[in-house]
Amino acid sequence: MTIDFRSDTFTKPTPAMLEAMMKAQVGDDVFQEDPTVNQLEKKAADLFGMEAAIFCPSGTMTNQLAIKCHTQPGDEVICDHLSHIYQYEGGGIAFNAGCSVRLLQGDRGRITADLVKESINNPLDVHKPLSTLVSLENTANRGGGSCYDFAAFEYIREVCKSNGLAFHLDGARLFNAIVAQKESTKEYGRVFDSISICLSKGLGAPVGSVLIGKREFIQKARRIRKIFGGGMRQAGFLAAAGIYALDHHIDRLAQDHDHAKQIATALSSKDFVGTMLPVETNILIFEVKGKYTATQLAQILKENGILVIPISATQIRIVVHLDVSPEMVRKTIQVIETL
Ligand SMILES: *Cc1c(COP(=O)(O)O)cnc(C)c1O
Repeated sequence: MTIDFRSDTFTKPTPAMLEAMMKAQVGDDVFQEDPTVNQLEKKAADLFGMEAAIFCPSGTMTNQLAIKCHTQPGDEVICDHLSHIYQYEGGGIAFNAGCSVRLLQGDRGRITADLVKESINNPLDVHKPLSTLVSLENTANRGGGSCYDFAAFEYIREVCKSNGLAFHLDGARLFNAIVAQKESTKEYGRVFDSISICLSKGLGAPVGSVLIGKREFIQKARRIRKIFGGGMRQAGFLAAAGIYALDHHIDRLAQDHDHAKQIATALSSKDFVGTMLPVETNILIFEVKGKYTATQLAQILKENGILVIPISATQIRIVVHLDVSPEMVRKTIQVIETL
């Protein structure tokens, strides 16, 4: 039995999800004739109380579409320095949108309205790039799955509105935050101009993300998706997995959060575990010290059938997900206790 904590992208479709995929009605989605993709897009838009949505192959694409659609080349995008859009999207902000980035030093990946306000360039100063977009991440991956307080979104939105900036959310793990914080999707739809959600992370679909926003914005995104090479044909087989995931795999995220806390408790009694980021959702990031290096600890765990990722020379990340059973969590805790 291999227990894979490397990422929540390692989940495989459940038999019921596969069955839903097999039964999907499909058509050519570039012609917007795939009924299952259309259904997923409508479902996602309705869930957030927003006008429209577009299904894409990856969360990188939904974020990059949003950045491209909200900006002009030469503009500046404001985000936390740990943001996925900056750290893990291959420089796409520059490559795809021709924009520069203003990186803010937030708290575990979360920025504040004051930090945003200070970083907006004076639009009358011709030396400066125009600040046109603020992008947040919830939960924040490199923040250890940290969640924003909802009030922070309202404050940042006010700053964006009064300065004419667009407001995007990278919600790759938004449902983890919503379940952990007992929030509603509709509130998010009210506050953000665009939201990207991943179906292929904790929700357990094999492929896919959705970008949600106003009708005109999504129309523009549809054109850019084609340019990026993301126009898919009979994608309904994949969209069916997404619909299934939204129907069946949201509430159960609470179990992943509980599992992450159990593992954190077991680790925190160990002398080789240093600082651990607060465990708010399904991600656990801790420092390794003393008798092991991060690489050594990862190797020992691997020899016990447990896969983790050393994310830096001194830190390990554990991500809990749909394919981690209660039995696997028990076994993991047993192994930790022997170290
Ligand atoms: C995974 C992830 C994405 C999207 O990644 P893809 O692998 O391109 O689907 C975006 N943002 C965050 C925070 C992520 O963790």
